[in-house]
Amino acid sequence: MGGTEQDFVKEAFDTNWIAPLGPNVNAFEKAIQEKLGEDIHVAALSSGTAAIHLGLELLGVGKGDEVICQSFTFSASANPISYLGATPVFVDSEVETWNMSPNLLRKAIETRIDAGKKPKAIIAVHLYGMPYKVTEIRKIADEFKIPVLEDSAEALGSTFNNIACGTFGDIGILSFNGNKIITTSGGGALVSKNKNHTDRAIFLATQARDEAPHYQHSNIGYNYRMSNVLAGIGRGQMQVLKDRVSARRANFLYYREHLEQFAEIEFLDEPVGYFSNRWLSCILTPSFETREQLRLALLEENVESRPLWKPLHLQPVFSDTPHFVDGTSETLFDRGLCLPSGSNLTSEELERIVTTIKTVLS
Ligand SMILES: *Cc1c(COP(=O)(O)O)cnc(C)c1O
Repeated sequence: MGGTEQDFVKEAFDTNWIAPLGPNVNAFEKAIQEKLGEDIHVAALSSGTAAIHLGLELLGVGKGDEVICQSFTFSASANPISYLGATPVFVDSEVETWNMSPNLLRKAIETRIDAGKKPKAIIAVHLYGMPYKVTEIRKIADEFKIPVLEDSAEALGSTFNNIACGTFGDIGILSFNGNKIITTSGGGALVSKNKNHTDRAIFLATQARDEAPHYQHSNIGYNYRMSNVLAGIGRGQMQVLKDRVSARRANFLYYREHLEQFAEIEFLDEPVGYFSNRWLSCILTPSFETREQLRLALLEENVESRPLWKPLHLQPVFSDTPHFVDGTSETLFDRGLCLPSGSNLTSEELERIVTTIKTVLS
C-alpha cells in the first residue's frame, strides 16, 4: 500500500458510503481516466474477469459463437467466453512480444470464415505488461470487421507509442486483483472510448434495473460493480502507480544487468515504441531442464519463482478447442521462468536471487 488508501477507506466509513456506488467509485474512475486519456470512459467493476464477461456480452458474443483468444495467457482471459456459451479459438504468440501472432490471427480468422463461422471478437493480451503488436492486430481486426477486447489486466502503466495500454481495443479491461501492479484487493474495470459501452456495462453490472419506481427488469443482470470501500483503496493506489512501475522496471534492469553475462539466458526486450510496466520479470533459459534446475535451486533458498503461463490450448479444460499454434508458446512455457518481481524487493533480496541463479549457471 502507498499510505493514503486508509484515508479514502475511512472517508467511506465516515460518510457511511458502504455500497457498490459512492464518491470513491466516481473518483477512482476519474483517476483511471486521467491515467488512460481524456477520451476514455471507465466503469469500475468487481474483477477483471467480470469486465471480460461484460465486455464480450457488449460485443454481442452469445451461445454458439466463436471468440479468438491469445493462447499464451491466464485462464481468466478465456473463461468468460465459456460463461457465454461460446467457444474459444486459441492463437499462438510471436517471439518479439510473446503476445498474439498477427500471422496466426489472420490464418485463424480466414480458416474459421471458410468453415462458415466468422469469429465474433478477438481477445488480445498484453502479457506480463508487454504491449501486444497493437498496429498489426488492429489492422487485421479492421480488415475483417471483428472487434477487439484488449486484456490489459497485467499492463496498467504500459504504453505503445506513448499511448496507454487499455485504450487500443473496442473495449479494454483492467484488473486490480491482489497480484497486479496496483490493487484494490479484488477489482477490475471496463474501459472504452465508446461511452455507450461503459454506460451499458454499469447498467448490467448493477442487476440491469430498468427505470421505474419498483424493481423492473428487461435484461439478465449481474452483480459486478466495484464497492465504494474498495474504490477508496484504488484511489490511494493510483497515486503510487508511477512508483510501482519504476520499481518493477528496476527489478527487470537489475536481473538483466547481473545475468546478461550468461549468453544462454534471454530477456524480452522492448521493441521501439513499446514501454512495458514489467509487471513480472521473466527469463528464457536454454531448456526445460535448466529452467527446473533454477526453479528448484531458488526454492531451496526459500525463493519462489514460477514457470510462465501454460498455454490455454494445452490446458485440460480447453483440450477440445480449435487452435492455431506454431510451438512458440509451448517453448516459452517449457523454458521460461518468472523471477520474484514484487515492487518492494530489497537490493539484498535481489542480490540473493541473482547469486543463486549464477551458482547454477556457472
Ligand atoms: C489477472 C488477470 C485477469 C483477471 O483479472 P481478475 O481481476 O483477477 O479477475 C485476466 N487476464 C489476465 C491476463 C490476468 O492476468
